[in-house]
Amino acid sequence: MSPSRDVIVVGGGAAGLSAALILGRSRRSVLVVDAGEPRNAPAEGVHNYLGQEGVSPFDLVRTGRAEVARYGVTVTDGRVVSASAAPVTDGDPLGFHLTLDSGEVVSARRVVIAGGGVDVLPDVPGLAEHWGRGVVHCPFCHGWEVRDRRIGVLVATPAGAHQVQMFRALSDDVTAFVADPALLDDTVLAGFTARGVKVVRSTIARVLSEGDTLTGVELPDGTVVGLDALAAASRLEARVDWAVGLGLTPVDQEANGTRFGRVLAVDGLGKTDVAGVYAAGNVANAMLTVIGSAAAGTQTGAAVHGDLLQADVAAALPR
Ligand SMILES: Cc1cc2nc3c(=O)[nH]c(=O)nc-3n(C[C@H](O)[C@H](O)[C@H](O)COP(=O)(O)OP(=O)(O)OC[C@H]3O[C@@H](n4cnc5c(N)ncnc54)[C@H](O)[C@@H]3O)c2cc1C
Repeated sequence: MSPSRDVIVVGGGAAGLSAALILGRSRRSVLVVDAGEPRNAPAEGVHNYLGQEGVSPFDLVRTGRAEVARYGVTVTDGRVVSASAAPVTDGDPLGFHLTLDSGEVVSARRVVIAGGGVDVLPDVPGLAEHWGRGVVHCPFCHGWEVRDRRIGVLVATPAGAHQVQMFRALSDDVTAFVADPALLDDTVLAGFTARGVKVVRSTIARVLSEGDTLTGVELPDGTVVGLDALAAASRLEARVDWAVGLGLTPVDQEANGTRFGRVLAVDGLGKTDVAGVYAAGNVANAMLTVIGSAAAGTQTGAAVHGDLLQADVAAALPR
């Protein structure tokens, strides 16, 4: 059992390290536990992060770890596997005990969950092997890198038509693969036609490669369509199995008739339904980018500090 801290941050990506930074600079004792698998690990660089454009995902967190260390934050490699609630200091009714995969138990007055999520990919043979390189999901993250190339878009949700038009803004050569006629109504089709998007009314049987390079897709009837990149939407599942002991369960995040993932519900300050437990980044919002996750982490860290201040004042008042 380690000495208890003010805050444990679960996950040391952009959200978790940003929360740790503002808390460390507020002289809070903070432990970050990080399993070291940021969601964008397969990507060659982080885009749209002002001041760090194109930095490798691992360099960004390496820099972040060094920055939080300057303010006394401890970062430990490991995974939180379970959690329970019980006070850890006199005068503060809230407290948490987290067990790591090493068996060590760490304790704190507050918890920030920032473990991100896992991308559940379309079940197409060969697709997962190219995830984050030849197979892309986000036009803002990878669109520039595939501009003017032959781009296929697998349309499997109502949001898919919008994704097609997003990639069409980046290349004249876009093919939409749509197996479900309900996703190809007259309005969608008219938009595709107007913008010169080719339409293949079929699903994709498998993704084709030469070595590490995606070269196209094969349809169930054997037709081969040559491509340089395939866009496909994922569904994000928040990495929070370990938090059931705290009473937390993820909820569906939906927009425009499309389920984007299952995440923890939080208020504008990152508060979950469990007092003393906060969440920031993709674990609480599947749509957030790296800089958005960092911003959420900063805001949540500030809110946690405010929460602790209230408890500190209450404990200091004469009884
Ligand atoms: C292929 C790909 C490319 C992308 N490219 C971009 C891009 O160019 N620009 C952009 O803005 N966004 C991009 N994104 C989105 C980006 O990855 C996320 O917005 C961002 O990583 C979310 O940050 P986060 O801190 O919430 O989670 P993450 O970065 O996923 O970090 C969470 C951390 O918590 C750790 N963790 C999880 N569970 C536990 C646990 N139980 N115990 C301890 N640690 C745990 C994980 O190992 C990980 O290190 C991309 C996404 C993908 C899939």
